[in-house]
Amino acid sequence: MVPKLRIAVVGGGIGGLAAALALTRKDHRVRVFEQAPELRESGVGMHLGPNGSRLLERWGLGERLRALGVRPTGMEVRDWAHGTTLVRQPMGDEWLAEFGAPYYTIHRADLHTMLAESLPSGVVRPGHRLERFTETGSGVRLEFAGGVRAEADVLIGADGAHSVVRRTLAGPDTAVFSGQSAFRGIVARDQVPALPGDTLLVWAGADARMLVYPVRGGEFLTFVAVVPDPRWRLESWTASGELDELAARFDGWNLDVKSLVAAVRETRRWALYDREPLARWSSGAVTLLGDAAHPMLPHHGQGVSQAVEDAAVLAHCLDAPSDAPSTPAGRRRIAAVLEAYEGARRPHTTRVQLGSRGGGSQRLRPDEDGGESTGTMSSLVQDVSWIQRHDAEAALPRIP
Ligand code: FAD
Repeated sequence: MVPKLRIAVVGGGIGGLAAALALTRKDHRVRVFEQAPELRESGVGMHLGPNGSRLLERWGLGERLRALGVRPTGMEVRDWAHGTTLVRQPMGDEWLAEFGAPYYTIHRADLHTMLAESLPSGVVRPGHRLERFTETGSGVRLEFAGGVRAEADVLIGADGAHSVVRRTLAGPDTAVFSGQSAFRGIVARDQVPALPGDTLLVWAGADARMLVYPVRGGEFLTFVAVVPDPRWRLESWTASGELDELAARFDGWNLDVKSLVAAVRETRRWALYDREPLARWSSGAVTLLGDAAHPMLPHHGQGVSQAVEDAAVLAHCLDAPSDAPSTPAGRRRIAAVLEAYEGARRPHTTRVQLGSRGGGSQRLRPDEDGGESTGTMSSLVQDVSWIQRHDAEAALPRIP
């Protein structure tokens, strides 16, 4: 018998909602407890690699993804000082053929809303901030701010980089500061008509870089400006950045970058941290997923896709035959399948997590004449091809 489990997912971000979708598709009774008072999502653009999009397509979301996301036709490195194109790599159909699924850039709010709308009503419970949990003989007891409690057979911590569930399972954080922060924001493309609405662009300076990519049909551009700064240490998705400082950092860059910066009305600033990979992330009936399990730097653009892969593998593992979940045999079985999930995912996510540290546009540096070294583009793509090619459902662990 495959028991239908009561599953509590803590955190209603992209990872938590993806897990809820994968688990409700297996008919489990899922509740997503999100601390925010309502499911109103912020953020700017994000990357969804073929390794993530192939899973969402299999879950029936292909059509909506095509409507909401942009498939960049190419990736381009431009000279930071003069703005001339140094190298262009085709991405659209070429990447589809190479990796078997599309690469999308998408506004976080659009992806989040799409996932939330795919869930049965009543699954998501906003206004629930988890404070602590305890395993009892027959399940897991969750305690939320304000004294509200809930019981579940399984607890999944999808509560992001500052996860309470991770802290309880694995002890205090060792956040690793990269020495960099990123200004992020959105501009309407008609404010910067010289920039394309179908391309991933990067201008790389000696120690800073500007990345731009389209969202919302190419009508808007997300920018991510990575700068070194040992003093800015706020690890927050919502902290504001100073427009004057952004402009000062890119003063002296080419005209396209300066027009882009001049068009920015609002920017967030996010200090770039990750954590050392965990030695374990499951215990008994509790496990982790997404940034809670493997917070990573953004240079491989894999935060979303790794969380979606986790969700697929977790749903597969929890779909195994077992005794009733409240019995001792059922509890042991849940612990074993969560270990199988961790065993399938942790080596892979650890590699992605560590690879992100020096990856992506981090590797682009101007040559002595001020232009980027053109040989680096193919190695950038090779760097991530094993990640993009991965099919989490083709490598599912066998549950004994
Ligand atoms: P997250 O997306 O961080 O989601 C974690 C969720 O858990 C959040 O909704 C949080 O409110 C909730 N939570 C945390 N603690 C508790 C608690 N104790 N009880 C209940 N709920 C809790 N990435 C980008 O590439 N570009 C962006 O523009 C971007 N913007 C972001 C904006 C916000 C507000 C957030 C939270 C994240 C953003 N990210 C962004 C990160 C990106 O979404 C993640 O790296 C990736 O999607 C993995 O998601 P996750 O669900 O594991 O974590």
